[in-house]
Amino acid sequence: MRTRHRPPERGADRRQTLEISIEESFTGALCAIVVPRRAPCVQCDGSGKETLSVSQLCPSCGGTGRLRAPAGLVRCPDCDGRGYRSACPCSVCAGSGEQTIERTLEVRIPAGVVDDDELRLAGEGDPHANPGHPPGDLRLRIRLAPHPLFRRDGRDLILQRPVSALRLLIGGTIRVPHPAGLRSLRIEPGLAHPRSLRIAGAGFPARAKWPAGDLVVEFEPLLPHSPDTALHDLIDQLDRALAASADHHFPELARWEADWLNEH
Ligand SMILES: [Zn+2]
Ligand SMILES: [Zn+2]
Repeated sequence: MRTRHRPPERGADRRQTLEISIEESFTGALCAIVVPRRAPCVQCDGSGKETLSVSQLCPSCGGTGRLRAPAGLVRCPDCDGRGYRSACPCSVCAGSGEQTIERTLEVRIPAGVVDDDELRLAGEGDPHANPGHPPGDLRLRIRLAPHPLFRRDGRDLILQRPVSALRLLIGGTIRVPHPAGLRSLRIEPGLAHPRSLRIAGAGFPARAKWPAGDLVVEFEPLLPHSPDTALHDLIDQLDRALAASADHHFPELARWEADWLNEH
């Protein structure tokens, strides 16, 4: 006959949610978490009863040891028919024999954890009813707190960045916030339309089998508000210069004017 070695039965696993910030997901963090645990009541040692110094008349049966029931008189279960009692329900645990103890655990959160990842802390779950058996595990489900700027898509980090339409047109260097600190990014010249820039590997950090994500900056081009006189003149000059070679700089505009402003 074959015998199989089985590990001893363990206590139940305990599930809790831990909310962390996006910044903590990037850098990793040390978090203090409070874990409630059912434990035997220290007041009554788990019996649920408190011994009275002086015996009392049983409050349930009034000392008769009997209770009236539809089938007739029955023995009072609270005093076992004796009519008096020498113990009452424990005032700390209300007779349950258990109390909730809160423990604080320091948990190291590795960099790169994201929503719905689970960290398993061996032996930090509920105890087994039999003290000879090991306790269960604590399973921490991670939740990322909403962030006013950053969004997550898989392991990509996305943010929207307002930018001068002129800068977007001619390109240059621009600063963007990042959970691990400010970064300077190079914008290539191009259309001043909303467009995005993707920096490979600058998203959520790699963890286990998942490689690091990308940083995606979505540019929102803006034109200046209420230009003053000096700026007005500069823009006027610029617009005239552009109009002079509209075929090259404004092909759609040049085509429209050729179609609709031609008087021959
Ligand atoms: Zn108690
Ligand atoms: Zn009684």
